[in-house]
Amino acid sequence: MDTILLVEDDHMLGRALTAALGQEGWRVVRHEDARSAQAVLVDHGFVAVLLDLGLARGSGLDVLATMRERHDATPVLIITARDQLSDRIRGLDAGADDYIVKPFQRDEMLARLRAVLRRTRGKVTPVLRWRDVEVDPGASTAYLNGKRIGLSANEFRILQVLFEARGRVLSRDQLQHCLCRGGTEVGSNVVAVYVHQLRRKLGDGVVVTEVGLGYRAGDEA
Ligand code: CA
Repeated sequence: MDTILLVEDDHMLGRALTAALGQEGWRVVRHEDARSAQAVLVDHGFVAVLLDLGLARGSGLDVLATMRERHDATPVLIITARDQLSDRIRGLDAGADDYIVKPFQRDEMLARLRAVLRRTRGKVTPVLRWRDVEVDPGASTAYLNGKRIGLSANEFRILQVLFEARGRVLSRDQLQHCLCRGGTEVGSNVVAVYVHQLRRKLGDGVVVTEVGLGYRAGDEA
């Protein structure tokens, strides 16, 4: 499981962030001061670091500087207070990937974190959006109103293919060819079953039926 290091000495914010990240499927390791964060970074691999600047026993900038000196390229998202503009600039100069200003919305933090992860993974696949749904092909993840939706591989595949078609109608046959094989279920209505499940999870309006033709997701092309 991907683990994120959260360095934050504010207990309430720390707990809230840990819970929000946990709901998105990340494991979170939290440290409250700069020195223990520096220590844990040496021994453990994290997919990203959420780094507060104002810390005890050193600052977030110290943590970042020692990481980059060690050529540790783990993406870093800085958490900063509104009045710390100069720190923010120093943070970016010191090699932070992005920053977010307190107080912030949970969804904004998650979106910035995902963006940082996408950029640093080098897979710059555009996120596809329609209605309240976002499909991120790079991360094989879909979001409804900013919330990650649990989809099976084939449900995600159908959603991705429909989103990539941007409103073009795709027939059941076309969609069936896109499915991951290896399953036993190759029936003519297997696509309809997945579409039904997608509607249950995403609401009715996202995958549109064009009677006699197939399905589309997106404004009519
Ligand atoms: Ca702080």
